[in-house]
Amino acid sequence: MAISREEIVAKLKSIVGEDNVVTDRAVLEDASHDRFRKYEGYHHVYTNPLPAAVAFVNSAQEVSEVLRFCNAEKINVVPRTGHSATEGGLETIVENSVVLDGSHMNKILDIDPVDMQATAQCGVVLEDLENEVRKYGFTTGHSPQSKPIAMMGGLVATRSIGQFSTLYGGIEDMLAGVETVFPDGTICDIKAVPRRSAGPDIRHVVLGNEGAMNFITKVTVKLWKYYPQFHECMGYTLDRMQDGLRIMREIMVEGYRPSVARLYDAEDGKEHFSHFAAGKCVLLFVTEGPQLISHATAEGIREIMAKHPECTPVESKLIETWFANLNWDAARIEEERKEVLETNNVCCTTEISAPWSAVEHIYETCVKRVTEEIPDITIFGAHASHCYSNGINLYFVYWYNVVDCKPEEEITKYHLPIKKIICEETIKAGGSMCHHHGVGKHRVHWIDQEHGSALYIVKRLKQAFDPNGIMNIGTILPYKG
Ligand SMILES: Cc1cc2nc3c(=O)[nH]c(=O)nc-3n(C[C@H](O)[C@H](O)[C@H](O)COP(=O)(O)OP(=O)(O)OC[C@H]3O[C@@H](n4cnc5c(N)ncnc54)[C@H](O)[C@@H]3O)c2cc1C
Repeated sequence: MAISREEIVAKLKSIVGEDNVVTDRAVLEDASHDRFRKYEGYHHVYTNPLPAAVAFVNSAQEVSEVLRFCNAEKINVVPRTGHSATEGGLETIVENSVVLDGSHMNKILDIDPVDMQATAQCGVVLEDLENEVRKYGFTTGHSPQSKPIAMMGGLVATRSIGQFSTLYGGIEDMLAGVETVFPDGTICDIKAVPRRSAGPDIRHVVLGNEGAMNFITKVTVKLWKYYPQFHECMGYTLDRMQDGLRIMREIMVEGYRPSVARLYDAEDGKEHFSHFAAGKCVLLFVTEGPQLISHATAEGIREIMAKHPECTPVESKLIETWFANLNWDAARIEEERKEVLETNNVCCTTEISAPWSAVEHIYETCVKRVTEEIPDITIFGAHASHCYSNGINLYFVYWYNVVDCKPEEEITKYHLPIKKIICEETIKAGGSMCHHHGVGKHRVHWIDQEHGSALYIVKRLKQAFDPNGIMNIGTILPYKG
């Protein structure tokens, strides 16, 4: 027989202490969803079953005990740290879930200036870690726009990526070691070494598991010397997104590695660049590193740009000022909430990756289909912000007026149909439907198409590490219950 809500709460209190188990209704409502349902949340409408409790853990040992209990009683556990998820990864879709929150595990454990790495508990906010390592003249190189809120555990769990990725890579390139806890209570500490070939790279059982296989408790990331005085910034306007994509390819293929390489189409650019580039696409680069490298990279990019008369340089100060204000903190989210409630105009996003040969087709098809097929769209645009030698990402940004529907209908009327077009067209053209926000619970519909024959590996990993299926039900793989 299933254990009662009261029994779950009592057992959690016995493990993590009375004060660390929260059952207030408002807290449970907030814990039942994430920013995928921000429109519902802003209207105080909650459509998922409320969890039994939010339990704050303070050590890997406590995580182990909670997971062992939940595993034995087959209770759904939703791991959480910064609560900035955007794809439903935090939704509690079955009754009496436990939201296991690691945000109190917020100590920076070590900054090692010899081995150039930092170790932090899962609940350390990335911005706090970055500020601390800057005191030593270092950087993590990680700078997602959610840097002021996202925490180390969630950043690893979602395979996050930041704005300087073209130089530093994604979190998978930064993660040296990690400690994690499996549902049977086993605590595994994967040591931090520069590289090894001791069997498969087991970090990848942890990276991107989205809380669906294990709970990350400690993270070791690499550090780099930080030289802000040598940053060089360049910006250009142009008419066609397609031209910008080809230029970005040229720069990558020629071997240049700016830290930032971004391209906005005119629609997405409306929100950012109307004061100097109305109706235009904007292409921008930042180079960094030691002076010689940063300067040589900038010179190389300028040389390529000089061969493209379709691009007009803009004053770099304009780009620098814009870039300095790109991140999201709690105050900005509150501003958004007020604006959405006033206007009913909502902004949502879907990010994908694509080989160079497919990206233009995906961009054109998605723009055409969404603007033709979905009602009440006010803006549908995209930017590319992460470049590779073999392809690029596209971050579709869409705004729509929510018209003639209840808050709880917004997802099915607008957000999911748009996501469906983007995911299906991307997969069909040979790209990936998720570049960095994870699958969550709202891209599981296309996970078989995404992986094809390799879905076998994902399913086997889930069965092996979470045989009772208690970890974040409905995330990465669909819930069939
Ligand atoms: C305004 C905004 C801007 C964003 N910009 C970026 C960006 O530039 N780049 C980017 O990559 N992402 C971005 N994101 C998405 C989000 O911030 C990242 O996915 C981030 O990694 C989530 O970290 P978090 O600590 O908030 O995790 P949470 O939101 O708490 O959780 C995210 C997922 O990870 C799981 N999880 C959390 N903690 C753990 C843990 N300790 N162990 C196991 N699983 C865990 C959860 O179950 C959930 O599935 C943005 C989000 C917002 C709201």
